[in-house]
Amino acid sequence: MIENTTYKLPDPRGKFGEYGGMYVPETLIPALYELIETYSKLKFDPEFNRELFRLQSEYNGRPTPLTYAERLTEHFGKAKIYLKREDLNHTGAHKINNALGQILLARKLGKKRIIAETGAGQHGVATATVCAKFGLECVVYMGELDVERQKLNVFKMEMLGARVVPVSSGTKTLKDATNEAIRDWVTNVEDTHYIIGSVVGPHPYPMLVRDFQSIIGIEAKSQLFELENKLPDYILACVGGGSNAIGIFYPFLGEKTKLIGVEAAGLGVDTDEHCATLTLGSDGIFQGMKTMLLHNNEGQVSEVYSISAGLDYPGVGPEHSYLHKNQLAEYKYVDDKQALEGVKLLTEKEGIIPALETAHAVYYLNELMPKTTSDEIVIVNVSGRGDKDLNTIVDKFREVK
Ligand SMILES: *Cc1c(COP(=O)(O)O)cnc(C)c1O
Repeated sequence: MIENTTYKLPDPRGKFGEYGGMYVPETLIPALYELIETYSKLKFDPEFNRELFRLQSEYNGRPTPLTYAERLTEHFGKAKIYLKREDLNHTGAHKINNALGQILLARKLGKKRIIAETGAGQHGVATATVCAKFGLECVVYMGELDVERQKLNVFKMEMLGARVVPVSSGTKTLKDATNEAIRDWVTNVEDTHYIIGSVVGPHPYPMLVRDFQSIIGIEAKSQLFELENKLPDYILACVGGGSNAIGIFYPFLGEKTKLIGVEAAGLGVDTDEHCATLTLGSDGIFQGMKTMLLHNNEGQVSEVYSISAGLDYPGVGPEHSYLHKNQLAEYKYVDDKQALEGVKLLTEKEGIIPALETAHAVYYLNELMPKTTSDEIVIVNVSGRGDKDLNTIVDKFREVK
């Protein structure tokens, strides 16, 4: 783990400016403090870091490459484009970086049982994977609708030994699964650790998950120094909860690099079917944190939509709300149709089929590149591979033709 020497957040109360905090039932406060205390001891513990480093390399295949995108660069004829290849992680996306860190933490806490919630199933699969690896009991809450929509991931989790619990309350999706996971944690907090999959939830989760994901930016920074002996001018990453984005941004906070997060505009920001939280949201409290959220006319947290299940979230990590408010990063949006074009662009120019989430960041190159110059460098964070999305992609490309 590293400390950013110029940017030091969250504060001891878990606040990023006015955002973040611990808005949870009282019964969970001791568990959160136990987590804060254990983590603050382990963060710079050489043995813990060695063990995590060994797992990240031997099991997960890190460091992931920084790939020069030669044909994509030629296509735009402007800045040089590099790709940070989180698609090459074990299980196909960046989520396992965090799951590995948290499972080690759970073991140090002496917890025997792991719970998680999942929407599309990607975080559920990463969690079930590390539980299989360490022989811990795993329960994954998932909305009934999502269980239906994501059969392959449900099958994977079950193969890995997890118990998938379908949640039939509310809208039967991620929000309801999260409520159920919190209920479980309140009841079983003695022996259970809750692995949250993005930089969301009460303190210390946004900090924990960021620290575990910041390996992406640490590697990218030193890899680019090796290749070009300089910092990138721009970094692009997609934002759902915001963990892959903060993971690559964090070591660059305080540098001159421009950080750009790309949210999902779904069917368009002039419809209700999008999840461009930082563009159109307002402050609120949700899932234990104060952050920016999408609200409907009644003031309730909205049902949101994106073609990519991983971006389909009505909130955003509190640190992104802070970076947005203080203009330390910029946030843009890309809609479903453009994301599909992004898939096509990276696939045809570089032979890399990206996840639909990632494709939002890829598409944004169309807007960014004309403003760049040939002596500049852009890094795109390729958060995951497209295998999981092939059904959706095939159907949509047929529709388009
Ligand atoms: C889950 C997921 C995301 C979105 O999550 P963040 O926390 O915003 O990174 C992005 N890309 C892929 C491939 C994912 O699986």
